[in-house]
Amino acid sequence: MNPSIYNTLTRRKEELVPSGKAFGMYCCGPTVYGPAHIGNFRTFVVQDVLRRVLECSGMKVKHVRNITDVDDKTIRESRKLGLALADFTSKWADKFHEDCRKLNLLPPAVEPRATAHIAEQLEMVETLVRNGHAYAMPDGSVYFKISTFPDYGKLSGLNLEHAQTQATNSAGEANSADEYERENVSDFALWKGRKPEDGENFWKSPWGEGRPGWHIECSAMSKKYLGDSFDLHGGGVDLCFPHHENEIAQSACSTGKQPARYWFHSAHLMVEGQKMSKSLGNLFTLDDLLSRSYFPMQIRYALISGHYRQQLNFTFKGLDDAGSALAKLRKAVESALERSGISEADFKKLVAPKNCFDGTIFEGAWSALCDDLNVPRALGEIFSVLHKFSGDAGDAAALGSLLYALGIDIFAVPAPDEQVSAPPEISDMAQARWEAKKSGDYALADELRKKISDMGWLVSDAKDGFKLVPKPDSKAP
Ligand code: AMP
Ligand code: ZN
Repeated sequence: MNPSIYNTLTRRKEELVPSGKAFGMYCCGPTVYGPAHIGNFRTFVVQDVLRRVLECSGMKVKHVRNITDVDDKTIRESRKLGLALADFTSKWADKFHEDCRKLNLLPPAVEPRATAHIAEQLEMVETLVRNGHAYAMPDGSVYFKISTFPDYGKLSGLNLEHAQTQATNSAGEANSADEYERENVSDFALWKGRKPEDGENFWKSPWGEGRPGWHIECSAMSKKYLGDSFDLHGGGVDLCFPHHENEIAQSACSTGKQPARYWFHSAHLMVEGQKMSKSLGNLFTLDDLLSRSYFPMQIRYALISGHYRQQLNFTFKGLDDAGSALAKLRKAVESALERSGISEADFKKLVAPKNCFDGTIFEGAWSALCDDLNVPRALGEIFSVLHKFSGDAGDAAALGSLLYALGIDIFAVPAPDEQVSAPPEISDMAQARWEAKKSGDYALADELRKKISDMGWLVSDAKDGFKLVPKPDSKAP
């Protein structure tokens, strides 16, 4: 039995069966105009686990993930800084790769950039114009005519009653934005005629100078690297509409084929029960967490610890719990290896994609992963049988494969005694500050926070308590 996932298109859980020699998987990648946040990484880590699980089940996977290096946001931000678009986006793409390495994400087989595939995008737009699915406007923009595609709205369950089959949305405004809400559904831009705010970011086209719309890049690049029809397409749930709906329309109407058979969407990450946003001060990048002394594996573990179809409520307590769970796992592995005489180096060789679970104590964990990628159940299963793990060769191989599937580098986890904790006088002061804050004595709470900070520690508050972390530049032990 192959792994299964919930297919957004058919609204059913389905077994994943490759259509060719390799399982073709296209995932929408980052828009590189700043550091990715941990919400983005939840989606990328979930996709990474899916890929690893498919590999462990014996499939060869071709994973393609694009880089959006031209859109409304990248142009706006690069121009604000007076930088060439390519210089600006390269810097953020490099940063993205660095973060991915820290989180142990496998690099995709191909990582195409939108600006390197303008010709492919233009070719698809030309096909759509030629076959009557798109039309040009006097400003040199080209729009997709949604009324020509009866399946439009099928993926996201959209009611098309109020759809505007013209290049204006229901409010009568030109729908040239890359991102818009369901209420604004209308014909959408495939190609955007050059505007003054685009600066030097334009390419020649049969309709004059301009640039591609956001949606067309994924249709053109998935076709180039995976063919007209491939296996799975993934993204965060916010991409279901309009991005993926538009992708299906563009691809199906230009190639005559359904682009992907399985549509895989992961739910969003929330922080302490709220939507992440800069204005709420709860938007975290990987560096934000690393500078608070959390370690990368702990962050990865926290990101996979909830089921991908449920919103993940990210909390500092959850991060602490992830750290403790990993320390426990590392200890159990180390003591079993010691007892059985398997060296760490030999065990590391077992951390590989291999379907070797039958008859082992980890069979239950593997079947949880195969059942709609149920990582929380798999982790529960692992911990429930860990006491039985004695280093038996079959069990060791199965555990190695499970660690590969989850992307957990167990030896990169600091042992509990290596994890930093604040000295008692700092903890006492932080406790006093917490009490002061709860009782409304904010002046005292602020004063204590400053004292704690002067002594080299930072207090971060959660709903139900606080956490102390050494300041990144401090000499605190
Ligand atoms: P972007 O860089 O905005 O194009 O997003 C990259 C990926 O992150 C997409 O698959 C989004 O759906 C996903 N994403 C954005 N915000 C969140 C969030 N809060 N939680 C989970 N995934 C997200
Ligand atoms: Zn995309």
